[in-house]
Amino acid sequence: MSRKMKLYVFDHKGAPDMPREARVCTGAPFDPTDIIPIPCMSFLIDHPDKGLILYDTGWSKSERHHRPWSIPEDMNVISRLAQLGHKPEDIKTLIMSHLHHDHSGYVEHFNNAEITVSDREFTGVAKLYALGMLQPHGGLYIGSDVQSWYDAKLNWKLLGDDEETVSIADGVELLHFGPGHSFGILCLVAHLPEHGTVVIAGDVIYCRENIGPPAYPPMVVYDLDGYKLAVDRLLGYVNKHKATIWYGHDTEQFDTLIKSTEGCYE
Ligand SMILES: [Zn+2]
Repeated sequence: MSRKMKLYVFDHKGAPDMPREARVCTGAPFDPTDIIPIPCMSFLIDHPDKGLILYDTGWSKSERHHRPWSIPEDMNVISRLAQLGHKPEDIKTLIMSHLHHDHSGYVEHFNNAEITVSDREFTGVAKLYALGMLQPHGGLYIGSDVQSWYDAKLNWKLLGDDEETVSIADGVELLHFGPGHSFGILCLVAHLPEHGTVVIAGDVIYCRENIGPPAYPPMVVYDLDGYKLAVDRLLGYVNKHKATIWYGHDTEQFDTLIKSTEGCYE
């Protein structure tokens, strides 16, 4: 019997300190005490032909990002892989949705992988780094993370604007979006034989509430017009393919997902 593609959800622990207005920007007065915890995830596909495909790598390391709360050792991406019997060097295909610190921790451990990222995202971050505009231990992009990626001499593959849809393996593709939430984002699509098509939004849409109606963007938006175009294109794809969308940081939806310690999607 031929093997089926499996999709695992890695839980990297939610951030306990995200103000509600930062996730869904309604224009209400900013209240830093009105907090909703938000999940942080990455995803692993075990593909019968292509092998392991990792999409994102979760939080930046605690020593790199000085946050006021900690992440248990058994919840980082290295531990999540180990819990399934894998090592970072087993990963030959790594896809980065974008390079914000809650999606790109530990990337320097994946020096056996071809690491695919939007050219705009990579170049935008490299420019900020080269100009000395990244904080070493804070901000959306972490300077000490970027330094570690350069030191590790990683194998990056940059997707240009003309590559809007990219096939990764049979039943797995990327949707490439230009400037919006960040400089450039990649969504992962998995056409699962039993569960159907899943579109992992990778922060093109944070959560259900951003769609509305009425629609509200998150606070972190690099290009608002591009953000709206990306949301429209993504929702168009989801409707056309009768797909399920997994939002980047939706607390309610996250609670319903099967985590890698419990099982997988096929
Ligand atoms: Zn982000």
